[in-house]
Amino acid sequence: MLTQMKKAQELGADLVEIRVDFLKNFSPRQNLEVLIKQSPLPTLITYRPKWEGGEYDGQESKRQEALRLAIELGSDFVDVELKVAQGFFSSIQGKKPEKVKIIVSSHNYESTPSIEEIGELVARIQATGADIVKIATTALDITDNARMFHVLVHSQVPMIGLVMGERGLMSRILTAKYGGFLTFGSIEAGIVSAPGQPTIKDLLDLYNLRLIGSDTKIHGVIGNPIGHSKSPHLYNAAFKSVGFNGIYLPLLVDNVANYISTYSSPDFVGYSYTIPHKEDGLKCCDEVDPIAQAIGAISCMIRRPTDGKLMGYNVDYLGAIGAIEEALRGSNGTPPSVSPLAGKLFVVMGAGGAGKALAYGGYEKGARVVVANRTYEKAKELASKVGGQAMTLAELKDFHPEEGMILANTTSVGMKPRIEDTPLPKEALKHYSLVFDAIYTPKLTRLLREAQECGATIVYGTEMFINQAFVQFERFTGLPAPKQLIRDVLARNT
Ligand code: NAP
Repeated sequence: MLTQMKKAQELGADLVEIRVDFLKNFSPRQNLEVLIKQSPLPTLITYRPKWEGGEYDGQESKRQEALRLAIELGSDFVDVELKVAQGFFSSIQGKKPEKVKIIVSSHNYESTPSIEEIGELVARIQATGADIVKIATTALDITDNARMFHVLVHSQVPMIGLVMGERGLMSRILTAKYGGFLTFGSIEAGIVSAPGQPTIKDLLDLYNLRLIGSDTKIHGVIGNPIGHSKSPHLYNAAFKSVGFNGIYLPLLVDNVANYISTYSSPDFVGYSYTIPHKEDGLKCCDEVDPIAQAIGAISCMIRRPTDGKLMGYNVDYLGAIGAIEEALRGSNGTPPSVSPLAGKLFVVMGAGGAGKALAYGGYEKGARVVVANRTYEKAKELASKVGGQAMTLAELKDFHPEEGMILANTTSVGMKPRIEDTPLPKEALKHYSLVFDAIYTPKLTRLLREAQECGATIVYGTEMFINQAFVQFERFTGLPAPKQLIRDVLARNT
């Protein structure tokens, strides 16, 4: 524990919670003295019993004796559970060094009660004589956090208010915005004292906890699952680098409409949307741009500052099309006023979310679009909307009405772990002058490698991702994107 406390200090923690119930052989007098006196940081002693979700299973009187000892030894904070707080306070009879603060805690591992019930709990805890109120509940849905924020903001006493579990992550970060007394971070990923705890490193370096204040604007990526998303790394670093007072969170959302109606305050300002919520996101917008309307999905939502209306955009296509245009310009020197895609035969493989974005994007730029998809019906439907031709992937092998065509793969064929798969055989690639692959894991897919071998210019999927990040950053902040920084962060995190 002493080694870990040192580690916590090095990682940037302000104080350490010492969970003595996790010690295998705990002899209070000997161990507490060492732990409290030798800690490099202020200490919080917690001796959590089984009946409150902890590890201690022995006699209650011995446990409370150890807590009294921690007070006597001058631990900066001592945690006492609400269920026994009244008796505990009577037992110390006001004998407590001034600097020792008692946290009275209540844990709910099942759910998060109503605002009224949490408020009532705060009052009950306060009535025991607590210096600091601690309430931890469990998130069954991301909207549960809102009730904790409401109580935190209105609390007249110092309060720790956290919502446990994966869906409660935002409470552990935004507590800094809503005036929470502290938040817990783990020293190592996964070694947590309560479900959903982030690491100290993530709190400080990824979410920039120390920069969060009451006026920090909230952004995030709405999806399910969302834990793997690289977007928080990218946007938080970018916000910090330009001094923008914003935070960007992974938002594990089950029902978009519920999320949007719950977090309706002007502080919730911008979102990215990912699988499977792009279509539901569109339904929650007050206004939608024509491309997103045509695609039937949004990738970005902004709360308009002037009237609070929610604006939906689909910027997926901007990313990919921008990257393709850039590569084409580099190779043929088209003037900036004309899209180098105009008039080109543009073959899109796939007709899912990314396929639609690419097909509409190509159509917007004046390309002649061909949609090739495993399921012909979907190709036909999409092609009819962009005035193009439809075929199956099998038919595409023998399709080469002209040379120098542009190819975009938006199927998931060739994505990790099946990196030896490819959606189109190498022989067919010689008819293309440029090949783009939306897949970005791996960066160099078999399709791109073979296209390169056939002499085509290649455009990586990471370029699509990065370009749409530039666009979203500018929409979120109204500032030019720090492009090199975003590239560097992405390179470090993929
Ligand atoms: P989606 O909506 O699920 O569409 C998947 C597409 O892949 C469909 O056209 C599907 O054809 C086709 N497909 C799947 N398995 C196939 C197989 N075994 N053989 C032939 N075709 C197959 O997915 P999405 O959102 O469009 O994403 C597709 C890919 O693009 C993913 O790899 C994703 O990572 C990537 N992507 C990248 C970015 C970026 O920023 N670079 C952004 C979005 C997506 P059917 O219609 O026949 O099922």
